[in-house]
Amino acid sequence: MSEYVSAWMDEDLAIYRESVARFVETEMVPQDARWRAQHHVGHEIWRKAGALGLLCTDIPAQFGGAGGDFRHEVVLYEEMGRRGLSGFGQGVHSIAAHYLLNHGTEEQKRRYLPRLASGELVGAIAMSEPAAGSDLQAIRTRAERRGNEYVVNGSKIFITNGYLAGLVLLVVKTDPTLGAKGTSLLILETRELPGYRVGRILDKIGQHAQDTSELFFDQVRVPADCLLGGEEGRGFAQLMSDLPYERLIVAVQAVAAMEGALGETLRYVQGRTAFGKAIAEFQNTRFRLAEVATIVRVARTFVDRCIQDELDARLDDVGASMAKWWTTDMQQRVLDECVQLHGGYGYMNEYLVARLYADARVTRIYGGTNEIMKELIARSF
Ligand SMILES: Cc1cc2nc3c(=O)[nH]c(=O)nc-3n(C[C@H](O)[C@H](O)[C@H](O)COP(=O)(O)OP(=O)(O)OC[C@H]3O[C@@H](n4cnc5c(N)ncnc54)[C@H](O)[C@@H]3O)c2cc1C
Repeated sequence: MSEYVSAWMDEDLAIYRESVARFVETEMVPQDARWRAQHHVGHEIWRKAGALGLLCTDIPAQFGGAGGDFRHEVVLYEEMGRRGLSGFGQGVHSIAAHYLLNHGTEEQKRRYLPRLASGELVGAIAMSEPAAGSDLQAIRTRAERRGNEYVVNGSKIFITNGYLAGLVLLVVKTDPTLGAKGTSLLILETRELPGYRVGRILDKIGQHAQDTSELFFDQVRVPADCLLGGEEGRGFAQLMSDLPYERLIVAVQAVAAMEGALGETLRYVQGRTAFGKAIAEFQNTRFRLAEVATIVRVARTFVDRCIQDELDARLDDVGASMAKWWTTDMQQRVLDECVQLHGGYGYMNEYLVARLYADARVTRIYGGTNEIMKELIARSF
């Protein structure tokens, strides 16, 4: 197949990609089985990635970031995504950094961003609760102002990076009578924070190396200057403004997973034989792979366009929602075909396509469900 190169790639990025791929191959791939067994990637890999300048790559250097742009972020998502490395929650970490960059006070940016960039702190975003996911206005976690502090009570569920997180951007109600306008974000440094407890790492059907966890807050006291941006009631607006960035990340990861699966399946069907010939020679295989390759190319082309829009600061909610729902739906379809073409081996976790298949299911659910994406698109008509 002719090699497709994204228009946003250039020579410098190609060199950068080589070093990222080397890091991923030597520091991550050999550890993935252990990470999946223990359900987290540990702190060491975060510090190593930070030391090499692979974290917060699109955060300005004055705040400890690499001073690059979204393309540098994409390169790491792609190199991990193609290899089925779903434990290292770079996406959520970067989104947490962006909340700070876009909405934090100068003091908040200086206090936290350099430590996110170095990997000293792993970032998480805690919105979802047992009784409130899509309907975020229904959250109950409460932060009550008492003098110079907030007192936080409540719980969160399904929190990516939850077990390792040293910094949690926590969505709370500062005034339950005001609906969306009573919602705020608190910045919580979790280490030795009295009343803060990480529950179990949740037992998922895929993404086994990811430390998705429950979080509990029991009379947690934090200084009032932990309010993101310093003004109560801004939480919903802050969340909404960063959603296109978040949804594009999910789409970028979906395309990378499809590309990884296609490459692996093309190799597999050439090597495996049945009835005296390679599986690749059956017309069914050729047609299935032609369909998959077409889907992957269409997805890649649209997501590349969205990446360019993000770089030009014009990615909107509708475009990001389209990219998120469609690529993740296609991710499932493509992975299903790739598993089928692997036969029984495709169902074995030691095969990349099996892990990619199980990891893919949640992408239609998190980052806003695909039904919610369609709601958002339909509202723009
Ligand atoms: C592995 C994993 C990681 C996650 N990481 C995070 C994280 O880091 N931080 C975080 O805060 N959350 C996280 N989540 C939570 C995720 O964002 C929610 O699960 C998701 O938003 C859906 O919410 P819910 O589970 O409460 O489902 P519900 O909102 O109860 O939805 C159930 C079903 O109803 C549908 N539905 C709901 N409302 C509508 C509507 N208006 N129209 C049509 N259909 C509708 C949904 O699409 C879905 O199919 C994660 C979840 C998982 C599984």
